[in-house]
Amino acid sequence: MSDMTKTMVANQLQKRGINDTAVLDAMSIIPRHRFVSKIYRPMAYTDNPLPIGHGQTISQPYIVALMTELLQVDLKQKVLEIGTGCGYQTALLCILTKRVITLEVLSTLSTKSRKRLKTLGYDNVDCHCADGKNGWSKEAPYDRILVSAAPETIPEVLIEQLAPNGRMVIPIGPLYNQFIYIITKNQNGHVNKEKSTPVRFVPLV
Ligand code: SAH
Repeated sequence: MSDMTKTMVANQLQKRGINDTAVLDAMSIIPRHRFVSKIYRPMAYTDNPLPIGHGQTISQPYIVALMTELLQVDLKQKVLEIGTGCGYQTALLCILTKRVITLEVLSTLSTKSRKRLKTLGYDNVDCHCADGKNGWSKEAPYDRILVSAAPETIPEVLIEQLAPNGRMVIPIGPLYNQFIYIITKNQNGHVNKEKSTPVRFVPLV
């Protein structure tokens, strides 16, 4: 574990109440600087989102940790991620679960992240350039769905692609009034929606 990740985990995550040790340990080993361009590398471990090109951002470490903790992943699951971006959140999911399918609507970002994740040795992931609003029906249902761009309302198709006992973490709302929602589906298919923390994500286009 490098000093940078150690400090990031202690100051930005543990101090703010993230206590899932699997999440903390994984974020201690992922080289976050490898997910941003050279000019942003010196800032890779600061308490901020950073530009990744095309008007998009890599989320602040705390938000990545919070969303992942809320998702409650384990090593047996199949997880759908929407909004690959630079692939940092994807790498975290790769460590914490069995298989990841990630969708990114911008082809340049999707291609770059696919290469980056491969180079860094994450091999339990499939990166697709696709509109996340349609989910990815080919491999549905998913035990977990994590969305890292905000729609104004929940796309119904994502709820359909959630497995029984599944759980989705998704920011919802207009630009300046978004909240994380935790959406669960029980064994009988009954869906529950719980409003959680206020956040600010780029819109799901
Ligand atoms: N987890 C990413 C966050 C990137 S920001 C990271 O840490 O890098 C959100 C991403 O969602 C952007 O890359 C954006 O292009 C993508 N996005 C926006 N709308 C989308 C859609 N409809 N389908 C798939 N990806 C989308």
